[in-house]
Amino acid sequence: MSTLPRTPERRSTYRAAGNPGGTGMRSPHTTPREHRTLAAGLWLLLLVCFPLVANARDSPARIAADASYLPLAPQTTYLHDADGTTTVEGAKRQLDDGRFVPLPNGDASFGFQTGAFWFHVRVTNQNPREQRWLLVQQYALSDRIDVYARYPDGRTVHHAGGDSFPFEQRSIRYRHPNFWLDLPTGEEVDLLVRVQSQSSMQVPLFLYTPAAFAELSRDGQLGIGIYYGILLALFFYNLVLWLVLRDGSYFWYLFHISAFGLVLFTLNGLGFEYLWPHSTWLADKSVPLSVCLAQIGMQQFARTFLDLNTRWRLGDRISKAIIAFFVLLGIAATQLPYHVATPIASAAVFPSIVWIAVITLMVVRTGYRPAKVFLLAWAMFLLGTGIFVALAFGLLPKTFITEYGVQIGSALEMLLLSVALGYRYAALRNENERIVRDAKNSLEAQVVERTGELRQAMSELESAHHRLRESSRLDGLTDLYNRTHFREAFEHLLSQSRNSQRPISLLMIDLDHFKRINDTYGHLVGDDCLRCTSNTLAETLRPHGALLARFGGEEFIAALPGMGLGEASVVAEELRQALRAQPCRSGELVIAVSASIGVHCVDLEARDSLESALQVADQALYAAKAEGRDCVRTL
Ligand code: GH3
Ligand code: MG
Ligand code: MG
Repeated sequence: MSTLPRTPERRSTYRAAGNPGGTGMRSPHTTPREHRTLAAGLWLLLLVCFPLVANARDSPARIAADASYLPLAPQTTYLHDADGTTTVEGAKRQLDDGRFVPLPNGDASFGFQTGAFWFHVRVTNQNPREQRWLLVQQYALSDRIDVYARYPDGRTVHHAGGDSFPFEQRSIRYRHPNFWLDLPTGEEVDLLVRVQSQSSMQVPLFLYTPAAFAELSRDGQLGIGIYYGILLALFFYNLVLWLVLRDGSYFWYLFHISAFGLVLFTLNGLGFEYLWPHSTWLADKSVPLSVCLAQIGMQQFARTFLDLNTRWRLGDRISKAIIAFFVLLGIAATQLPYHVATPIASAAVFPSIVWIAVITLMVVRTGYRPAKVFLLAWAMFLLGTGIFVALAFGLLPKTFITEYGVQIGSALEMLLLSVALGYRYAALRNENERIVRDAKNSLEAQVVERTGELRQAMSELESAHHRLRESSRLDGLTDLYNRTHFREAFEHLLSQSRNSQRPISLLMIDLDHFKRINDTYGHLVGDDCLRCTSNTLAETLRPHGALLARFGGEEFIAALPGMGLGEASVVAEELRQALRAQPCRSGELVIAVSASIGVHCVDLEARDSLESALQVADQALYAAKAEGRDCVRTL
């Protein structure tokens, strides 16, 4: 017969989480702290709960002739060995002394406890066909379990298990600790079980035939398989999307789904079974670490998905603070004892997920449509968990859906979140397209506006240019063309005349004794006379299609296209008489003005026609002056 070490050498672990496969109520013996933890942390609602049963009696647990399984709790008595030093002989003595007491309300759940717990049950197998039974503790996280089976012949068989032993050492490779027992028909076998764990003290013991055990695990394995299958499919689907789209929220979705899956994997005992069967360090730290990681992933995913930074600044800061808290707690959890880190992490879960619901509602209120799908996904998760809670408190019957409410709810949540991601991506794309379209439209409108402005500026510039050109061609005092323009325009008329072989004549007009006017009335009056004379000349010449210019001082020149010397002389005479007939007015003054006019018909064949024609016209003018002024002369 083997004995227990007086001082357990191994570093024991202390786990708070439970087993979603169990049913029923929590024991009132749960410590207040764990009770708070349970209320606060929804994950911890996955605790093993057992139905209320009658107090254990000293009678043996009988396996009926046709039974295939037996819960041992009703006939189990227990002893709390507070310092964990009692040996198996000591425990037997205390059993014989009647120090073992029935399980409180038939429930072997005690919450976080120090030392070790001893359990005793006497089993009688009355099933003649089944001699070999499997003792299963339906709670995954106990550190060390020692089973002593004492037979009537005095023989004692010892088994040791729990997650401080390598996983392969289990009788059946199953997530709950289990031990093969020989239970010969009709024999009374004393089972003494010692459990020590930093985890929650939960020891729901059952006996199963191999066939019944297979039945037991069937539904659970199917549910777990479907659940992780969905999670894996969603993970790889969104991984591909993330690799293609490089959108940050896909990354945080992957983070969230992985960390959340890890939490359930750990709580189910599957983490120890498949991921770290040899790492007692991870077996110890996995619960608080995975809870912290899951919260970081959830919060960060919610932040990025909801674009909280732009939609609700204050909320974003609070989310960041929550993330920072879980990061620090995660780091601290690697150093802190399990029984300190886990309750803190679990208690923080409740405000954390409520906060996500709050920010989602706030963002929904801003009219951001993808947030509605996000809210629906979150509601699925809360509904699934709520159903599980209702089941745990006996408000709903135990069905596949209620028992696996958390898994179903979270799988639907993950699925909807994946849909929400797609929806969000489509919304972002539509928004981008709208922005590009708007930008294009406004750009087009701007182009039209600018083009209109440009056209107007061009036409203003053109008219300014026209005015400038005009003013450069005009004489400032009389508004007649100046001498420069006359030369250009005359060259043009001359070439037209050459082409059409029609004559063109020049009139050189000089006012008579103009100096006297200046001398008599002053230059301003002289200017008025020049303007007045110009008007008379222009009006008189207009019907003749003449080109009139101020040649300089009180001299004017006119070109008469199509007119020979005779016709031009007639027009010159008409001019002279018009001037005589219309004296100039300046204020009160009426001043008579006369002009001498030299007439010349241009020789179209001459080389330097204008200069020579001007000379000839000038000579004619001198002749007019010489012959007494106020007359028309030709040479
Ligand atoms: P004549 O009959 O020989 O042509 O005598 P005149 O006085 O007209 O000729 P003269 O060449 O001696 O004088 C021309 C005068 O015209 C001199 C000048 O003061 C005047 N004059 C020239 N340009 C202007 C002008 O722009 N404004 C005024 N008020 N007088 C001008
Ligand atoms: Mg003169
Ligand atoms: Mg003169």
